[in-house]
This record gives sequence, structure tokens and C-alpha cells, in this order.
Amino acid sequence: MPSTRSTSTSTTANPWILSVNDLVQSPGNMRTVEGIWPAPDALSVPLFGIQQGADVDVELRLESVHEGILVSGQVTADANGECSRCLDPLHETLVVPVQELFLYEPEGDEEDQPLVQRDTVDVEPVVRDSVVPSLPFQPVCRDDCQGLCGQCGIRLDEAPEGHHHEQVDPRWAALAAFASEQDTDDTGLEEKTSDHETEER
Ligand SMILES: [Zn+2]
Ligand SMILES: [Zn+2]
Repeated sequence: MPSTRSTSTSTTANPWILSVNDLVQSPGNMRTVEGIWPAPDALSVPLFGIQQGADVDVELRLESVHEGILVSGQVTADANGECSRCLDPLHETLVVPVQELFLYEPEGDEEDQPLVQRDTVDVEPVVRDSVVPSLPFQPVCRDDCQGLCGQCGIRLDEAPEGHHHEQVDPRWAALAAFASEQDTDDTGLEEKTSDHETEER
């Protein structure tokens, strides 16, 4: 007989939906669920995340409590992305804690409450709500990554110290030329005037 430890709790093709019929209405009972399941889509933010279909190592504890089923544990998965400053590829193993109480009956008017439905709990939205906020919106390869030169695109970490470009904004360049013309004229005028005054004396 093949070991079914990781899959015996799944009643459908979707491994993230767990059957809990053995725990329903039996407070105090608990068991663990372990498995490596494919990541559902969109466990990511724009520059970083877990690829759809990537292995997610799931370790959960299912506990029957009076109000429902308490799911807690953690998920572990490799995340990929790129540095928001220098665009180098990034790899990181994420370990994200997960906890949610699935209720038998909705409480109050709150929407989107996780519920035990047909003796199953769907942990995918719970995992998503735990993983996505843990992802960095501006991932960096190193805290002190200098990023890329805005003018030539070279990696500033690899550039000679003091890397810069002499290029000046064309508007300032025009103004600078104009200003130096004025300076020359003024000086010429002053000199003439003073020459004239000297002659009169
Ligand atoms: Zn970087
Ligand atoms: Zn440059």
C-alpha cells in the first residue's frame, strides 16, 4: 500500500481543500497534515513571489474546537524575483506561519469568513493571505545595493568609486552659456567706463 499520509486528507483534485469530517463536532481532537503541494496562482507581488506550480512544503495542524476547526502551522517555499535597484535575480526560501479558525457558522455580518463547508476547509486563501503580505514590495539583493547608474546603466557596486557623468541638463547648459556671455559684456563695459573716467581726470 502506498503511503497516503499527505494526500489522504484531500477529497478533491485540489490538495488545498482538506477533508475534516473526522474532526467536525469533536472538540479536542486534532491531527497533522503534511505534504508538498503545487503553489496556487499569484502567491506573489510584482517583483517577487512563489511561482505558480512550485513546490510548497505544507505542515499544518488541524484542531477541532467548539466553534469550528483551527488550522495552524507553516508553509515553506522557494521564492524568486529581482532586486528592485539593480535587477539582479533573487532567490529566497520563505517560511511563513499560517493560522486560521474555520467556523461552522458565520459570526455577525463580517464577509469572507473562512467556514467549514461540506466537512472541508479550503486553506488556499489562508495561505495566500499569509504569504502575500510577507513578500517584500521592494526586494533588494543587499540592503546597501547601490543600484544602476541612471545615465549609463552600469551597476554602481561594480563601477569605479565616484562614477559620474559630466553631462549637464541641456537647459542648465544653455543658461550657463548665456550667463557667461553676460559676464563678459559687463566686464567689457566696466573696463571701458573706467578707462573713460581715467582719461577725463
Ligand atoms: Zn541589487
Ligand atoms: Zn554611469
